[in-house]
Amino acid sequence: MAFESILPLPDIFSARRVLCIQPHYDDNDIAAGGTFAQLARNGVEVIYLTVTDDLAGVVDMSLSKEAAIQALAKDQQAAGKIIGVKEQILLDYPDAGEYDYFALRRDILKYIRLLQPDFVCTCDPWLTYEAHHDHIQTGHAVAEAVLFCNILKIPSSDPAVDAAYKGHSIDGVGFYYSREPNQIVDITSTWDAKVAAVRCYATQIPADDADQLVMALQFKSQQICAGRDFQYGEPFKMLNPRALHCGL
Ligand SMILES: [Zn+2]
Repeated sequence: MAFESILPLPDIFSARRVLCIQPHYDDNDIAAGGTFAQLARNGVEVIYLTVTDDLAGVVDMSLSKEAAIQALAKDQQAAGKIIGVKEQILLDYPDAGEYDYFALRRDILKYIRLLQPDFVCTCDPWLTYEAHHDHIQTGHAVAEAVLFCNILKIPSSDPAVDAAYKGHSIDGVGFYYSREPNQIVDITSTWDAKVAAVRCYATQIPADDADQLVMALQFKSQQICAGRDFQYGEPFKMLNPRALHCGL
């Protein structure tokens, strides 16, 4: 009997609502915008939840905090329109700052119980040499929130959401920025949309840097597609939620 028949690899393209949880406002699109654009074009509800306020990465030091917040929101709305994001949720934890892991996990639990996605995506917190704490905290908090979403003894940050929650099942978790991908999604048809979305993040990525980033994305994307019958791809570690504990 094949192991996959006991714990089958989840299929993100069977999902109806995908919650994409990113540390910073551009991570979902840089890593997986082509996949999320395809899902949106297929009629899947794609919802983005951003953990931090992104203020540390604002390039123009002369912007006031209020102006920076507005500029970041404008970037994100423009990119979201291109990808087809249905809703943008912001948690506003301090970018590269000090915040409590368990507070973050409670907030993510809240949105998983409220929105009841059947698929959740985030950055892989086990990426070798990942130094950015926002990425490590976010990936771990999402993995634990997926694992614990049906255990109501573990509270979210909103008692009313917990009281109304009747339980639901999550078919899969997709980790992007992973060193151990087990699926390459063909994004040839949405590559242009991904690039256009990535170029929207001008408050953090000026045009020259965006050119370099796009070149790097193109190189990596084509590299992982070598020997395949498509030109552009995005790698994911797709896991059944039951595989998120004790290595099954
Ligand atoms: Zn990031």
